[in-house]
Amino acid sequence: MNGKINSYLTLSAIDGPGLRFVVFLQGCKLRCIYCHNPDTWLPDNGVVISAVDIIQLMSKSDEFYRQSGGGLTVSGGEPFYQPEFTAEIVYNAKKNQYHTAVDTSGCELLSDYPDIVKNTDLFILDIKALDNKRYFSITGDSIEKSIQNGIYLSSINKKIWLRYVIIPGYNDTMDEIEAFYNAVNGMKTVERIQIIPYSKIGIHKWRDAGYISALENVSLTPPEKIRDFIDFINKKAGKIVAV
Ligand code: SF4
Repeated sequence: MNGKINSYLTLSAIDGPGLRFVVFLQGCKLRCIYCHNPDTWLPDNGVVISAVDIIQLMSKSDEFYRQSGGGLTVSGGEPFYQPEFTAEIVYNAKKNQYHTAVDTSGCELLSDYPDIVKNTDLFILDIKALDNKRYFSITGDSIEKSIQNGIYLSSINKKIWLRYVIIPGYNDTMDEIEAFYNAVNGMKTVERIQIIPYSKIGIHKWRDAGYISALENVSLTPPEKIRDFIDFINKKAGKIVAV
């Protein structure tokens, strides 16, 4: 089947184990204030492509993905905005014996999508805040499904990497990171936690698309704040923490 993608990236080293072919799907219902890819939001934009053609594009660098223990990562936008397309991409990737990962905000209940879950080896789950008001101020949505998804994936023994972007003034207090730790503690299959400082990498895309970013004048995350968060998680959770 066909779906819409925004872009793709070859040989990424940060979107799952090994080297990855990352496909960024078009469309997302959230409006995160720190979004690096606001150009993925509107479903009418993007390029039409088939799931089979995505695997063909990927196979041009096949040896790098296989030899590095890498594979395919479906990202966005939000992969669950086009769930049937995502299901077909991971199905085709598994058919070609690639490792598969799906990078999601967790805004949909993953248990409703068994075809995606079955063919996905790793979920990269973004936890944007733990306090519901803070989560809403960052995303415009509520936190419950993200947490339920982590617990669900653990219960079926699926591997999880968690991502947490520290946004100064929004989710950077120690009570927030303690709440994050408490939530993570209930997710037994978390392999890795990526603590990511807020950066202004995507801010030009906001301007180009005519959006006004609430973070236009927010400072970057101070390095000592990142260190505090990493130390706390390392000490308490003992997971691999990366920036
Ligand atoms: S879920 Fe991802 S793509 Fe969607 S608005 Fe948030 S950061 Fe952007």
